[in-house]
Amino acid sequence: MKATVMHGPGDVRIENVPDATMMEPTDALVVVTRAAICGSDLWPYRGYGEFGETGNRMGHEFIGIVEAVGAEVRTLKPGDLVAAPFAISDGTCVFCREGLHTSCVHGAWWGGTTQDGGQGEAVRVPYADGTLFPLPVGRDDALMPSLLTLTDVMATGHHAAVTARVGPGKIAAVVGDGAVGLCAVIAAKRLGAEQIILMGRQPDRLALGRAFGATDVVTARGDEAVEQVRQLTGGHGAHAVLECVGSGLSMRTALNVARPGGAIGRVGVPHEVKIPASNPTFFKNLTISGGPAPARAYFDVLLPDVLEGRIEPGRVFDFVGPLDSVPDGYRAMDAREAIKVMIAFNQ
Ligand SMILES: [Zn+2]
Repeated sequence: MKATVMHGPGDVRIENVPDATMMEPTDALVVVTRAAICGSDLWPYRGYGEFGETGNRMGHEFIGIVEAVGAEVRTLKPGDLVAAPFAISDGTCVFCREGLHTSCVHGAWWGGTTQDGGQGEAVRVPYADGTLFPLPVGRDDALMPSLLTLTDVMATGHHAAVTARVGPGKIAAVVGDGAVGLCAVIAAKRLGAEQIILMGRQPDRLALGRAFGATDVVTARGDEAVEQVRQLTGGHGAHAVLECVGSGLSMRTALNVARPGGAIGRVGVPHEVKIPASNPTFFKNLTISGGPAPARAYFDVLLPDVLEGRIEPGRVFDFVGPLDSVPDGYRAMDAREAIKVMIAFNQ
């Protein structure tokens, strides 16, 4: 079968790889119909991370059709359309039962050197009952882009809002105008924020952010950005800061735009981030929370809003192509020519 393999920074190829096959009775085999490239896929593309001898399989956001199930799979059958969240989880351990599937004791991540990746024709899915979420629509439903965002970016934006304690009447600041930041705007509005300040630099992304519910945009960076947020918030800062980048600069900005007693929900995978112990975190009584979103748990929360058209996170996809276009998709996202790439399979 064909799949995406990253061999090193900037080196993404479509290659023939061994066919996905079931190994355990709790596995399912899924033929992929839609997949996405994630902003976090750009970290290894830009040189952060290690690569296996034969490269790393890529992709952790996908939807597909169940082709076969193992003897112990109870809730799925061949022909079902399913979405795969960005983490593998058994659905039964203590953390899964608490709704924190990304800390599953049997958890694993897609791709790399040990798992199939979603940016390929088929995937072996461990713990299929726990990992996969059945979708109540057809494989080419018009809602497919928005449904695909529930596997990661919309769930992650929601997690930023939840952990930053967004609620009715609150002032939210979203750091970052990538796909996650834009979905965080949707999430903040959905949870009742009164003012939503989107911090980013790209005019087309900021326009989409306004369409999603941002009331203000700040295009400055560093100290100037912090000052502008203060001016927009009566001098005090935001109650809820949704940190959707994961760089040292974005984290410093998040800490500095939070008002005393505020909370920061960090969902950008951190790279070279240092959080100061004293000022402002201690002296402003800040809560710092966040981490990998339990996307599997959030399907139940977010799916009705997608199915009934109340939110349209699929608008973040502005590049759609077949599997062979994936290397160009990485290039376009890296160059900020595309917000987010969807891969449409014809199999
Ligand atoms: Zn678990």
